Amino acid sequence: MSNSPLLVFDFDGVIIDGMEEYWWAARQASIRLIGPAAEAALPVELPALFRSSRPWVHHGWEMVLLAAELMDAESPLRRLGAPQDSADYLRRTERLLEARGWQPAVLQEALEQVRREAVAKDRTSWLALHRPFPGVVDRLRRFQSEGVAWSVLTTKGRAFAAELLDALDLQPALLHGHEDGSKPEVLLQLRAVRRLRGFIEDRRATLEAVHRTPGLDDLPCYLVSWGYLKPQDRHGLPDGVHWLEPELFASPLASWP
Ligand SMILES: [Mg+2]
Repeated sequence: MSNSPLLVFDFDGVIIDGMEEYWWAARQASIRLIGPAAEAALPVELPALFRSSRPWVHHGWEMVLLAAELMDAESPLRRLGAPQDSADYLRRTERLLEARGWQPAVLQEALEQVRREAVAKDRTSWLALHRPFPGVVDRLRRFQSEGVAWSVLTTKGRAFAAELLDALDLQPALLHGHEDGSKPEVLLQLRAVRRLRGFIEDRRATLEAVHRTPGLDDLPCYLVSWGYLKPQDRHGLPDGVHWLEPELFASPLASWP
């Protein structure tokens, strides 16, 4: 077992702001699945409703579904706006999958095919659709001098996170993507072999799921203030889930709750 403590980071919404790319890739994947009607109906510019729905997204394929939903003027998203709560979002997702006769795996593959081709054809332009959040890259580098190792645990495809980390010259100790299992599963496996110091995320529902998992209930969890959050996410956090603002993030790990 490695002795250095390990901090585990989510990727999208914590290290990288890829909002422009999420829309671009979701739109392209929709065009492949639906055809020219999607190209005509979906704007090239990032729609506000896509941006405001992003905090609900758990897996990449859901963004393709959101793009398809935006095509339909009668859809709940167009009529009512972003979902009210998780149950509402899940209901909408299931209905949309059923209406289109789609399986999540097909949507995920379409999204990843779009990304694979973008990386192969014009990596520079694809990378340019992403920006690291201010101060995060420097802070990750400084963990090393504190004797803290850090890793990435994302629902993105591992290869795409690796491309972006490489472009930023960041070398996490470990990198896990959606191929490796759910976040609670991976954290449990990690905890069997490493001393985990914390898990840092911007999706509150994921932190709550981790916190409810036997064997992870005492793992310090942090919700970042700069990620893709819903307005109410920061309020009433459970014990053990801490609010992480840039100032605390910049401070030595020893001073974190
Ligand atoms: Mg995230």
